[in-house]
Amino acid sequence: MKPQDTNRKGARLRISEIYASVQGEGILTGTPSIFVRTSGCNLRCWFCDTPFASWQPEGSYLTTEEIADQVARWNVSHVVLTGGEPMIYANIGELCLALKQAKAHLTIETAGTVARDVPCDLMSISPKLQGSAPAADAGSWRRRHNQRRERLEVVRELMGRHEYQLKFVVDSSGDANEVLEYLERLGSYDRQRVLLMPQGITQPDLEEQAAWLRPWCETHNMRFCQRAHIEWFGNRRGT
Ligand code: SF4
Repeated sequence: MKPQDTNRKGARLRISEIYASVQGEGILTGTPSIFVRTSGCNLRCWFCDTPFASWQPEGSYLTTEEIADQVARWNVSHVVLTGGEPMIYANIGELCLALKQAKAHLTIETAGTVARDVPCDLMSISPKLQGSAPAADAGSWRRRHNQRRERLEVVRELMGRHEYQLKFVVDSSGDANEVLEYLERLGSYDRQRVLLMPQGITQPDLEEQAAWLRPWCETHNMRFCQRAHIEWFGNRRGT
């Protein structure tokens, strides 16, 4: 889906799912939360664990009011706006404002390629590394992914406007070293807000990755972050 599709649908956003669960990643791990997942993404990572919101976007077009009403059915204060890539929607700020007016603590999960001035309490930025590109047989998506995935100026802008965390998905020691290079190019940041998270969608794979990544993080004074929801629920939709 192209961002301009949202304009043809008026003030609606395509939503693939809304559900209650527990945050399994990042500095708010363990926090009961409502997850609102927009559909559509301007990247196509080979390891994407939500292909129904990226490679094959699906879902209903809902108004801001309809989304906020669904969120309000749960008595949960934390809301996570995730995707796909929520920031591709030109009108995403309306939804953020509605959720903030309902007193939500709002986290936005983004790959940090599109800057928008939106209200939120935690901007969770997950910049994509070189190794996230789709295979060569993915047609034009490999080229588009490589052109779009790194936007240092956007990440700096989001970090400057909001409380933030930088959350990197790491699949190899090469990726971990690339994070160091990325941070050097990024310039100013709070190391305590940098988290490295293993790539994987099964508990054995995550534990295998954690065996080397956890000590690597300790050596480099960075925070290791497990994908705890995989351990708690498995790789299942709606969790
Ligand atoms: S940026 Fe996120 S949602 Fe988009 S393809 Fe990559 S992993 Fe999937």
